[in-house]
This record gives sequence, C-alpha cells and structure tokens, in this order.
Amino acid sequence: DTIGVNLARTVAAHPGREALVDVPSGRRWTYAEFDRAVAEVALGLLALGVAKGERVGIWAVNCPEWVLVQYATARIGAVLVNINPAYRVHELEYVLNQSGIGVLVSQTEYRTSAYRAMVEEVRPRCPGLRQAVWIADPSWQALLEAGAGMDPAALTAREAQLSCDDPINIQYTSGTTGFPKGATLSHHNILNNGYFVGELVGYTEQDRVCLPVPFYHCFGMVMGNLGATSHGACIVIPAPTFDPAATLRAVAAERVTSLYGVPTMFIAELGLPDFASYDLSTLRTGIMAGSPCPVEVMKRVASDMHMGEVSICYGMTETSPVSTQTRREDDLEHRTATVGRVMPHTEVKVVDPVTGATVPRGEPGELCTRGYSVMLGYWDEPERTAEAVDPARWMHTGDLAVMREDGYLTIVGRIKDMVIRGGENVYPREIEEFLHTHPGIADVQVVGVPDERYGEEVCAFVVLRDPAGTLSAQEVADFCRDRLAHYKVPRYVRVVESFPMTVSGKVRKVELREQAAQELG
Ligand code: ATP
Ligand code: MG
Repeated sequence: DTIGVNLARTVAAHPGREALVDVPSGRRWTYAEFDRAVAEVALGLLALGVAKGERVGIWAVNCPEWVLVQYATARIGAVLVNINPAYRVHELEYVLNQSGIGVLVSQTEYRTSAYRAMVEEVRPRCPGLRQAVWIADPSWQALLEAGAGMDPAALTAREAQLSCDDPINIQYTSGTTGFPKGATLSHHNILNNGYFVGELVGYTEQDRVCLPVPFYHCFGMVMGNLGATSHGACIVIPAPTFDPAATLRAVAAERVTSLYGVPTMFIAELGLPDFASYDLSTLRTGIMAGSPCPVEVMKRVASDMHMGEVSICYGMTETSPVSTQTRREDDLEHRTATVGRVMPHTEVKVVDPVTGATVPRGEPGELCTRGYSVMLGYWDEPERTAEAVDPARWMHTGDLAVMREDGYLTIVGRIKDMVIRGGENVYPREIEEFLHTHPGIADVQVVGVPDERYGEEVCAFVVLRDPAGTLSAQEVADFCRDRLAHYKVPRYVRVVESFPMTVSGKVRKVELREQAAQELG
C-alpha cells in the first residue's frame, strides 16, 4: 500500500476518533477532519505545480502542519525532505541544493531561530528553490485557498499514478559521526516499519501517543506518526521542542497511553523537581530508542512512569528506521541488556568487520540488516550508498553488536566509538553503565583519547547530580577498584554541565572526543 491508501483505511474504520492533538494551541482533529485537512494541503501543493517525485522540504519544529505536510506529500507522491530545525545557513544551503528542493514549507521564526531570514540569505545560492510557504502566515492560507480552487479529481488522478516503491522521503542521518547523509525511503519502507513498530507495541484505536521527539527525525515521523495512524491511534504533540514539564503535563491532560523519548529525555522527566505531582497513571507503554538506556533509568521508567511494557527499539535512518525491538512480554533484563530481536520480515547477522564472515553467537561484530526496510539509497550519492549497502542488499550499520543465544541482540557500541587501549577493546557503553551506579553521577559519556603509550586512554565526561560538586579522577578510580578491569578505569575525568547533542537528542561523541583530544591528547 501507499501511505495514502493506508490512511484512507484508518479514516474509514475510525472516522470519529481523534487523530491529532496539538496541546500548545489546543487544536484537535478527528480522523475524518485530519483526512480533509491533509487533502486541502495536498491540493494546495498540486496547485503550486508540485510534480510526482519533486522534492518538498519541511523545516520546522513540531507542529500539526508538519504532520499534515507529511501525509499530503505522500498522497501526491512528492519527496518530503526533512530538514533539521537546528540547522543554520550553511547546512540549510547544503540540504536545499543536495536534494534539489523546489518548494519549502517552513515557519518564519521560532525562538532565536529566524528561519525566514536564513532562507532569504541562502536563496540566491539555491536556484532550484522556486517557492516558500510559511506556516502560521498568510502564505499558508494562500496555499489552502489555492488548493480549494482545485478540482479534487486532480488528487485522485495523481494517487492513481503512485507506486509503493516510489521514493517519498529523504531523511538526513543525525550526523552523530560526521556529515549527514540523505537516506531515501519509499512508502513501502516507512509505512511497513511504522506499522510493525506499532503492532509490536500493541497499538489500537484506544491508544494516545505523546511525541516529544522531533518529527524531522524518523523516530517522530515513522515510529510516531505512521506507527499511530496505521493503527488508528492518536498523535499528541506536547510542545514544539522537547520540554520535560510540558511533556508530563500533556501525558496527564490528554490521558496518554504511550510516551516516546531517547534516554536523556526520560532522565530529564524523571529529574523534574515536581515529578511526583503529575498523574501518569494512564501510561502503559512507549518507545525508547536512539541510544542505550542505563539500567537505573529503565527501572524508574517501568515503576515510576507506569511504562512496564516500554519497547526498546534499535535502528537507523537508513533502515526506515527500526531493525530490532523488544516485545511486550519481555522482562526487565531483556529491556535493559538488549535492543530486542529482529523485526518481522527482516533479517540480521553479525559479521567480522574485516572478513565479513558471520561470527558465533556471543561474540561482537558488525551488525548487518536486510529486508523491506533497507533504504533505496543515499540521495545522489551512489558511492556512499555502495559503501553502506552491499550487492546482496545487506545494510552495514557500523554498529557493534552481539547476538545472544536467545536471539536477542546487544549493541556494544559503534565501530567508530570503540576505544582500543593497549590492544584491549574497550566498549564505552560498559563503563558508562557501571559509572551510572555512582551516587554522585547523573549522566556520563566515555570516549577514547590518543595516548603515546597505550594508543588510547579512557576519558569520562560526567554530569554531577550536585551542580556545585566536584569529582576527581582519583575518586572515580577508587570507585572502580576491584569492580572494573584496570584498563577500563578512566584515566581522565572531566566534569561538565551537559553534553553536546544532536537535535534528535543524541550525544555527539565526536565532539567530546575532539575536545578530549585537544585538552589531553
Ligand atoms: P550519522 O549516521 O550521521 O553519524 P546517526 O547514526 O546517529 O548519525 P541515526 O540514523 O539517527 O543517525 O541513528 C542511528 C544510530 O543510532 C545507530 O546506528 C546506532 O548507533 C544508534 N542507536 C539507535 N538505536 C539504538 C539503541 N536502542 N541502542 C543503542 N544505540 C542505538
Ligand atoms: Mg549512522
């Protein structure tokens, strides 16, 4: 199916149920209303002359219009290009030209981000950009009016030309490890992935899904929006950007059953001084993904947030994104030590990164995935595509994983993050887990620092519970003594207030590594 056909099925089954709620503005849409609103935007884009396959950029923080544009572009077979709201002119110009965006939907400004001014600045250098539409601005009204002047048959005619294998989405990767790449995805890729993620979480039309994660990223738009609408559930937008208090307020006010986030978001919510005052009793599930979750945090999410069924997902933009997921019945051990098992209709294998041979269960190697979810390719970058996807269509993830005897996978880190100290492979994740049990440490990131003697040394960046506190390398070493092999004990400890993050909420270890190398290397 295409996304439009799938949405029509949900609308027919649950026309009166809520599809979308925007808590900040108080606006809400039933599925029947949502369907009409999507069609209005789709007709508006047709009125602008958007062709099948033409790239339509969206550059905005979370808002209902983002969701409408997502479904409207899918219905007309345009390729939606998600643009990270944190980008600045340099990155914007790169993305506009790299993917050849003809029409851009954006917002004039948000907080300190002057989007319209930035677009005007790069416009002379982006000859392909022929039209900009601004949300909450007369130009948005003009788009809808142009659509209202169209014959609705134009939309039906366009939909008849679509195939589920058409490219409809370019998502730039997070840029955690370097410059982002434009993963190009089809209806088939992302609709199936959203559907199966939702099915494994157990969504029905009774569910209400709160999404503090950004829509521009697959976590929000696929696992969130498509996961919800393909099962008739309701999308709840708590705030334009992540705000822990607004998130918990939305959960309580909208009787949310499912909450998404990367681990750092849950850490922030659990750390609110008035955490106990929010009524979270309607929650039963949610999704945590993007990076590993410390065991202590998971325990509190299950108990204090009532999310006993929370799913752990592992994936990457290039694979629509989810490749493995825990199941509802899994116990705490599986939810904390593993990222679940393979998704329906996909395959995984763990290989020796050098020889490519599958390694025995229990041994680390590079995780490779295959199936419907693997992207069509990186947009206009055949060489980088060939480096990532081999001729047999296996996606080489760059992640180190262990396949356990019970078929569950453990992610032990990224190939690029592994520290090799004196010939020993050190997995930062293991040290981070351990240091999380230190009473004074709120959050921790471990990286390698170049070292003349050992090749690399271990450095821990820590955020302390007490902002005025201190923690020395010696104190950390004392804490680790007899409990961690000597070569894993951090030689350096740096106390920081926070970590450099990507907008999708991931710690940019490259930056920490560069910082450590400069100061200590
Ligand atoms: P870039 O590819 O541009 O460097 P990125 O890989 O962070 O950025 P994404 O596609 O957003 O961009 O993230 C996918 C990566 O996130 C995976 O390859 C993996 O390293 C990490 N990841 C995702 N889910 C999990 C998880 N549950 N546990 C641990 N790591 C995860
Ligand atoms: Mg990646």
